[in-house]
Amino acid sequence: MAGVRKPVVEVRRSQRRRRTVSAYRDGERVVVLIPDQFSRAEESEWVDRMLARLAAREGRLARSDDELLVRATRLIKLYLSEHGAQAVPASVRWVTNQNGRWGSCTPADGTIRLSHRVQDMPDWVIDYVLLHELAHLIVPSHDARFWALVGRYPKTERARGYLEGVAAAAGTPLAD
Ligand SMILES: [Zn+2]
Repeated sequence: MAGVRKPVVEVRRSQRRRRTVSAYRDGERVVVLIPDQFSRAEESEWVDRMLARLAAREGRLARSDDELLVRATRLIKLYLSEHGAQAVPASVRWVTNQNGRWGSCTPADGTIRLSHRVQDMPDWVIDYVLLHELAHLIVPSHDARFWALVGRYPKTERARGYLEGVAAAAGTPLAD
């Protein structure tokens, strides 16, 4: 990314490694572990690739609970504005204990939780999952009125397809 200082990279070659490459941050440095047999060109290519991966992983941390609330506020304004306070959650947060669902909502207390599995998905998919749960604050069940609300989001069908694809690839059927 422009303006971001390139970190100090320490490359460690390992005879035991055949193909796997890994990287982790160690203070100010980034340690990249590569197979001993890699050429200089491969080393350089993989260092760049692993730095990009690490940056992407760290960027995901920016998707905090606070950011989720900002996102919810924007979605409510765009798609659920006529429902006023009813569409506003008491809390919305990322959770790691929800592997069978992308998101969940408790209309009784107005709380919404999104699975960390969604955290590294594209913005438009996160928007769908969040809008889906926000709509449950208004309509708890998956009836026609519910889908009419969620269908206001132009990428609903696309996002549902994306999520189905991810679930199928992981071999885990997921409920929404
Ligand atoms: Zn639902």
